[in-house]
Amino acid sequence: MSADLALINGNILTMCRSTPRAEAIAIKGEQIIKVGTTREVILLIDNNTKVIQLEGKTVIPGFIDTHIHVTDFGRLLLWLNLNNCKSIKDLQNILKKKIMKISPSKWILGRGWNDTLFVPKKFPTRFDLDLVAPENPVVFYHHSGKFCLVNSKALEFAKITRQTTILSTEGIIGKNPITGDPTGILKGKAMDFIWKSIPEPAPDDLLELTKLACSKIVETGITSIHWMVLTPIELSIIKKLSHNLLPLRIYVVIPFEIWKKELGHNLQFNLQKNSLRIGAIEISADGYLANKTAALFYPYRDEFKSTGKLLYTQDCLNSSVIEILQSGFQLIIHAMGDKAVEAALISIEKVTNKIQETRIRLEQAALLNKNLLERMKRQKTMVSVQPCVINSEFKTWSAIDNLGQTRARWLFPLRTLIDNDILLLGGSDCPMEPINPFLGIQTIVNKQYFIEEAINITEALTMYTINAAYSTKEENCKGSIEAGKLADLAVLSEDPTKISSNKIEGIIVTTTIIGGKIVYSG
Ligand SMILES: [Zn+2]
Repeated sequence: MSADLALINGNILTMCRSTPRAEAIAIKGEQIIKVGTTREVILLIDNNTKVIQLEGKTVIPGFIDTHIHVTDFGRLLLWLNLNNCKSIKDLQNILKKKIMKISPSKWILGRGWNDTLFVPKKFPTRFDLDLVAPENPVVFYHHSGKFCLVNSKALEFAKITRQTTILSTEGIIGKNPITGDPTGILKGKAMDFIWKSIPEPAPDDLLELTKLACSKIVETGITSIHWMVLTPIELSIIKKLSHNLLPLRIYVVIPFEIWKKELGHNLQFNLQKNSLRIGAIEISADGYLANKTAALFYPYRDEFKSTGKLLYTQDCLNSSVIEILQSGFQLIIHAMGDKAVEAALISIEKVTNKIQETRIRLEQAALLNKNLLERMKRQKTMVSVQPCVINSEFKTWSAIDNLGQTRARWLFPLRTLIDNDILLLGGSDCPMEPINPFLGIQTIVNKQYFIEEAINITEALTMYTINAAYSTKEENCKGSIEAGKLADLAVLSEDPTKISSNKIEGIIVTTTIIGGKIVYSG
């Protein structure tokens, strides 16, 4: 049998325990037919074989991103990137360029500005934006995501005036202390006034943006995704995408409440073998640490002594879990606070005989303790982790201040989880966090907070490859480079296991291959 595609003279990181390294790969159709030395693979080459000379480059199994919001990512690709702005002038210059390309009254969105980088040190107001954009509503989100700067036109669209108020516990509408006029800075829930005023793109535009997002995703070496659906409109987008050949492999995760509403209506899909599966239903036991809605046993260390809250009673969670499992879908429980993790485990323990079969996954399982850890181990629950979120919880949300040192020690204890044989899965949470898997990997290999919970590079790669494949019962067809598996591969500029751990994020993906087809070449 001759190969359609052969990759030779390379450094293949197979992620397969028995033979972790090889030199060459032969592919026929969408499958790998041989992994071995260049000499062995050359025997499978004939005139019709396309040959890629790797020249020592590293190949890994295509990444599986287990947590991504694709349509939102697409939406965000239209936003202005303000990360590199070093002054108010820079913000204005970027805005000026954009204004020239669009019609008046069209919204302009951007994110990433950071006033601490500004020279001279000056906090922007709406008037700085008005100078350049008097006709278009403009919203620029701060890099922390905690507040935004808007211009006068945006305030007008959102009907925010001197008289508009909000509870101080929920948010702040920045106002001039003398005149009472809004300054254009909106914090916390005050940002919702603006968010609600921004028009939703038309369905066809959303479909195009989603396709654009998919093409950006494969550029990072990601070949499979777990698409965490947020709104019903995404189900119709996935349906439309499925009418053609899909740009990458998609495992769809539907929130419980949407699933209940859409049951039988919007769930008829053109499923494609190995490429599109409606796989899991996710039920949320609580909210998020960042807005203090994650359910805790003991209060947050804020002035309100709040503990967050569970979104379901225990009985309701129990019956919903049974309903999901009986439907045949994979069960995912989002549980961020320790109290929510316990509620999830109580439900899981009640259906314990089905655990082995269904591969239950906890989303986040952020705040833990010894007892919860033991119970997770016993139930063999997997934990889905988004490494860049970990960094944000500590850095942007100041987890140590908000939880206290002792509890923060048990926030995302990855080393401890692995040492207790709990399977970890890796994802980006893009667009809340950057898509680049190497950024996530560097974050957990090179942990800034509680360094004793760092993991090694191979363990981190495992989260995004073979573990992620196992989580959806696809360990026999993907997640490692072995004969018989799908030829989903990423060619890298460097070997992540050989470079310094603070250089991992700089690794470049030069080629992405899905099912034996080159889908990206940089
Ligand atoms: Zn998410």
